[in-house]
Amino acid sequence: MTMERIYLDHNATTPLDPRVLEAMRPWLEGRFGNASSLHWFGQRARAAVEDARAQVAELVGASPAEIVFTSGGTEADNLALSGGAAAASAARRTILVSAIEHPAVLSTAKALEARGFAIRTIRVTSEGRIDEADLRGQLDETCALVSLMLANNETGVLQPVAEAAALAHGQGAVVHCDAVQAVGRVRVDVAALGCDLLSLSGHKIYGPQGVGALYVRRGTAMQALLRGGSQERNRRAGTENVAGVVGLGAAAALAGASLAEEAPRLADLRDRLEARLLTVPEARVNGNGPRLPNTTNVSFGTRDAVPLLMALDLAGVAVSTGAACAAGAAEPSHVLLAMNLPRDRVQASLRFSLGRGTTVEDIDRAAQLVAQAVERSCRSRSDAV
Ligand code: PLP
Repeated sequence: MTMERIYLDHNATTPLDPRVLEAMRPWLEGRFGNASSLHWFGQRARAAVEDARAQVAELVGASPAEIVFTSGGTEADNLALSGGAAAASAARRTILVSAIEHPAVLSTAKALEARGFAIRTIRVTSEGRIDEADLRGQLDETCALVSLMLANNETGVLQPVAEAAALAHGQGAVVHCDAVQAVGRVRVDVAALGCDLLSLSGHKIYGPQGVGALYVRRGTAMQALLRGGSQERNRRAGTENVAGVVGLGAAAALAGASLAEEAPRLADLRDRLEARLLTVPEARVNGNGPRLPNTTNVSFGTRDAVPLLMALDLAGVAVSTGAACAAGAAEPSHVLLAMNLPRDRVQASLRFSLGRGTTVEDIDRAAQLVAQAVERSCRSRSDAV
């Protein structure tokens, strides 16, 4: 008999929605065309790409011309930081990033150091939210760009992007928001956020992997990273990934339509999971304040989380020790360390991220299996003493 597996790692990736697959299918099975071609085939592909652009724009309150398709969230982040920095005036040579950004932002900022930019890091509180006073203190007229995520991928904690954008604009800086985890899970509106650049990704919203978008507010100066043809209004060269883009558009439309119902459903399930997990001795939630409805990050005393994750995997529950890319390397989470949590608690933390397919039964069973796995790890520890 095959085991019924419970997937609680939707912040790593989400399954492709069957309705998204249906929208993509013609473009994978014979329908084709280069969206830059002038003939009928090309114009059919162009129309599909432009329909998808309108769907993505609608989800974040942008106009279609402000959407640039990319190969995913990572490329959108790279384009925002590198492209935004390259377009800044010679007097603006500072980039501000929060300490809890995704590596796609942090590594790009690091690379910009070699190109003569100074990087300043905004502190976060023990609750996982940026310290606004620190941001205010570090902002000045040398700042080219401020990059602040809307929701942290490990804790789900929402960041005060609108407030940060107002402060940054007061100093003339461009504002980038990595909304890869937030889009589709909370309402995202570029006008309300006030950001100039915003990244999103298909595979976090039940769309395909390898496609994403960067919102570029009209009038925002940004150099292209990829050079070649004049696709995407000269902001991203390369023949469009029509099937991927169509999938992203369909996923965006579905996310927009289901948000009002899905967000409270997920919040209820997450709260139910948290309440059960907190009955496990020494369990503590990491991150506080407004959060994504689908995410919780919990430490189990000072137990190493990796064996716990492996035990849960064997029992049929998929969770994460943090960012998927960090998980392979078993590095302690830079996000939890930035929140000043003790190192042993950081290494004892697991992230549970729920999604469209998660049911009450999944939650109750997963909580029970976690409690059992922790208890077993206690027993094996006391046996070892
Ligand atoms: N930004 C955040 C906050 C993320 O969580 C991720 C993916 O985990 C990315 C960027 C990268 O997106 P992608 O996987 O589409 O390259």
